[in-house]
Amino acid sequence: MATLGIPSNTIAVLEKYGFHFQKKYGQNFLIDPNILENIISAAKIGKDDCVLEIGPGIGTMTQYLAEHAGQVIAVEIDDRLIPILKDTLSAYDNVMVIHDDILKVDVQKLCDAYNGGKPIKVVANLPYYITTPIIMGLFESRVPLSSITIMVQKEVADRMKVGPGTKDYGALSLAVQYYAKPEIVAQVPPNCFIPRPNVGSAVIRLTRYEAPPVKTRDEKKMFSIIRAAFNQRRKTLVNSLSNAGIYGITKEKAAQALEKMGLSATIRGEALTLKQFAELSDLLD
Ligand code: SAM
Repeated sequence: MATLGIPSNTIAVLEKYGFHFQKKYGQNFLIDPNILENIISAAKIGKDDCVLEIGPGIGTMTQYLAEHAGQVIAVEIDDRLIPILKDTLSAYDNVMVIHDDILKVDVQKLCDAYNGGKPIKVVANLPYYITTPIIMGLFESRVPLSSITIMVQKEVADRMKVGPGTKDYGALSLAVQYYAKPEIVAQVPPNCFIPRPNVGSAVIRLTRYEAPPVKTRDEKKMFSIIRAAFNQRRKTLVNSLSNAGIYGITKEKAAQALEKMGLSATIRGEALTLKQFAELSDLLD
């Protein structure tokens, strides 16, 4: 039975092992059974699912996942947590704990080994200091996955969801929305964690699209253009693209392409939709 979500049980485990939190690993452990249940139901975990958990900590969410999923693979970087996980997960025979850095793990290999190459689900209370590289790494590497349900900083969840014309709109919004449908499923206050983070958190579900919602001839080029546009977001798109020195884009070429799209040469990148970035990328040949 999953018991670690209850605060007194988490504290007992921490005391038993004399565990001290490491800030550099973004360690804020969940101590709220309702939130844990919410995450499991938002991720729609069933016995057919193979779940990758990033950063199991002392195994709190891992216990819930093990009860609902067919197989759980949990990747944890902190060596001090490995013996603790052995203890807290001893009742489950469907959990594989891997001691490694998620940014160095070959997730495709794990999918092949544990799920016959079929799509996995990713569920995690992420270490906030590497949220973006983890998400982008998963999407860009094209590993088979059907959804990512994660706890992130509230502001980052907002950034993933918003469209043009808002201050949070940026390269992360466009990248996430190219690969997946984002839905915020819960807001989580600091008192649901030990220790309490300084920021509010949110659970967001990213449901992977079978095919991207827009078409572009060269995905890599489109993302370079998007990054260049937001690297200098207060500049006009014409200036930020020509300053970036990518794909031979000059001020003239950028202005011509925008004109063909019926857009002003003084427009900023933050005003363009994903579809417009795809069109711009194709026009900038
Ligand atoms: N899942 C646990 C929970 O909800 O209570 C812990 C979540 S805590 C926010 C983040 C976890 O990720 C910590 O256990 C931390 O040690 C681990 N972690 C940090 N960086 C990591 C990395 N690069 N690869 C794998 N795990 C990492």
